[in-house]
Amino acid sequence: MVTSILHEAPRVSFDDLSFSRGTQRAVADQGWDAPTPIQALALPPLLEGEDVVGLAQTGSGKTAAFSIPLIEALNPKTRGVQAIVLVPTRELAAQAAAELANLSRYEPVRPVVLCGGTAIGPQIKALKGRASVVVGTPGRILDHLNRGTLRLGSVSYLVLDEADRMLDMGFAPDVKRILSYTPDGRQTALFSATMPDTIRGIVKQHMRSPRWLAVESEAPTVDTVEQVYYRLDGRDKTRALRSLIDAEENPLAIVFRRTKHGATKLHRQLERDGYKAGLLHGGKTQAQRNKTLATFVGGRTRILVATNVAARGLDVPNVSHVVNYDLPEDVETYVHRIGRTARAGKDGVAVTLVGENEIKEFNKIKRGLPVEVRESKLPISA
Ligand code: AMP
Repeated sequence: MVTSILHEAPRVSFDDLSFSRGTQRAVADQGWDAPTPIQALALPPLLEGEDVVGLAQTGSGKTAAFSIPLIEALNPKTRGVQAIVLVPTRELAAQAAAELANLSRYEPVRPVVLCGGTAIGPQIKALKGRASVVVGTPGRILDHLNRGTLRLGSVSYLVLDEADRMLDMGFAPDVKRILSYTPDGRQTALFSATMPDTIRGIVKQHMRSPRWLAVESEAPTVDTVEQVYYRLDGRDKTRALRSLIDAEENPLAIVFRRTKHGATKLHRQLERDGYKAGLLHGGKTQAQRNKTLATFVGGRTRILVATNVAARGLDVPNVSHVVNYDLPEDVETYVHRIGRTARAGKDGVAVTLVGENEIKEFNKIKRGLPVEVRESKLPISA
């Protein structure tokens, strides 16, 4: 087993890597100066057709790390589905499909997205066209396999993205069944933020002498986030939030609540107070979620009230603030929530509102973090 632990970013430029001119141009269009560390590590072996296990978090640039070789591996003469990307959530599927479409803009790939929560009819229709790439969640993909509307016998490239999350969500049996539908000789890339034994088991059983790759810092985004907390009376949280928002010129803030009900209530209150805000939680349809996200990404709403559904994978550039209105449940949730800001090297602020009766619970989270969270004073008294 080969493991490459990266201590410094290797000096590789996109020009050093051999991929087609169309993809080179598409990468140049993104305005990226150089490969991110995980890209510098994973692109060469993946372009060579090797299997790769990458320890990487969202925000590391892993989507492009598996998308570029995927695009390069497609054979225009082959019919049927050649590549499949398995992800844990609909949001991630949409993001991966968008990145694939962007990076293949000169030789359009048009991935078919297969996720639950949306009508199956249009998906079946899309699969009947010349679908070469499929991106989706395990449950719905298995559903298509069972219905016979999807065949994976021509798959030569398979990605398991956020594998730990997929297993946490109970998808292990589905993932294994999907793997069994694909040819043994396929190339496989697996990305995960952690490497529990179940994943090691899948790697051992289903991958061919993979390269193990890791960047030294497992939480790259967290270092560039300024983290503060405010101690206050729990009843003053809405007022505190308002004063935080008012103190900023043009904030783009995600505000986290624990429950759908809490998020809905806060959203209603903010709108009543004259703020333009979006609301994102698991009870919304996919169409509603997409619309809310598009409005937020476009800056037309500057506050997004969300439950943890938005904590993982959501990639909105320029989010300036993450506000923990309710405390996160644990350290991991904290890290994933605050990872929504300071994307791709930008700065961001993570604010936690800690009610007097929550101090003990928050101290427990604080102790589990590698960086210090400062206590701060509200811009104007709440
Ligand atoms: P990911 O880890 O795939 O969720 O990517 C995080 C963000 O980094 C996305 O917005 C990408 O568009 C962006 N990104 C990917 N590769 C690069 C790169 N080489 N340079 C700068 N940004 C990048």
